[in-house]
Amino acid sequence: MQPLLDQHGRVATDLRVSLTDRCNLRCTYCMPAEGLDWMPLDDQLSDDEVVRLIGVAVRELGVREVRFTGGEPLVRRGLVDIVRQVRALDAGVEMSITTNALGLSRTAGALAEAGLDRVNVSLDTVRADTFHEITRRDRLDDVIAGLAAAEAAGLGPVKVNAVLLRGINDDQAPELLGWCVDRGYQLRFIEQMPLDAQHGWDRDAMVTADEIFASLATRFTLTPAHEPRGSAPAELFVVDGGPATVGVIASVTRPFCGDCDRVRLTADGQVRNCLFARSESDLRSALRAGASDEDLAARWRTAMWGKAAGHGIDDPSFLRPDRPMSAIGG
Ligand code: SAM
Ligand code: SF4
Repeated sequence: MQPLLDQHGRVATDLRVSLTDRCNLRCTYCMPAEGLDWMPLDDQLSDDEVVRLIGVAVRELGVREVRFTGGEPLVRRGLVDIVRQVRALDAGVEMSITTNALGLSRTAGALAEAGLDRVNVSLDTVRADTFHEITRRDRLDDVIAGLAAAEAAGLGPVKVNAVLLRGINDDQAPELLGWCVDRGYQLRFIEQMPLDAQHGWDRDAMVTADEIFASLATRFTLTPAHEPRGSAPAELFVVDGGPATVGVIASVTRPFCGDCDRVRLTADGQVRNCLFARSESDLRSALRAGASDEDLAARWRTAMWGKAAGHGIDDPSFLRPDRPMSAIGG
């Protein structure tokens, strides 16, 4: 086994697999109200192709964590079967999904039974009116039911990801943390990144990690958690003496690129060595042309070697990737 090494000495062991670019919400920081021109289904990897490439990653390249994302991974019909097949490939690989949780109350049990380990649910508010303002849909109750079902199915520890938007939910951070602490969910705030399809991100308007800490400190005592941050992007804090923790992922103001261990596969079979990469490597064409596992692994290693040292969002010369977050896989 030869791992996914880059020229800056990092090794990628955490694979994010986008299963679709489609979604049933329309979060304002992610996509426009009318949605996007979805990827043609012929371009999308089939279930068997997805499993084949994950097999290459796990067996030939040392990947130890697989996270399904999108778009919304729960809208992919074959999800449970893909999970089952990946579990059959490797009993030890850690497998999770990042989801908006719509419909999770119906599928959590099947996903757990198929071998999924955990879920990360995206939830930015527990107020119905704010939920509608951010996602443009009235589905807060479904998300809350999905979270409870995930916990009940053993897909824990359940993590909640939240993005704060100025003037919309930036005053709700303590309320959301209190709600998560009461239910045993681990909350992580993510700084808003320039990855929305409609290019609405504004560096001066984004809510920074420092502001998030200040807001949380109005209601909670936060102390740095003792575990070293390692390659985990979240800075973790113990809430009011524990056991609850809260994380802040300061991708913009405190980038963690030097410790990054991630690699991404898009729904149409392109390897992206960074969320912000401006180029991709086409594994789908090679796969469909009959490439062997060894050949696919070699192409994947080459793609990884060229990973940039950092994303440079704060550089004046920063250029956004062509694909929005929903088509890359967040
Ligand atoms: N639909 C699923 C969900 O929302 O969890 C998975 C895909 S979504 C693109 C993955 C994560 O990216 C979500 O937690 C979402 O909040 C986050 N996200 C989307 N756009 C973002 C942006 N511009 N900045 C920061 N996070 C973003
Ligand atoms: Fe859909 Fe997730 Fe984007 Fe929201 S953040 S629109 S749920 S892909």
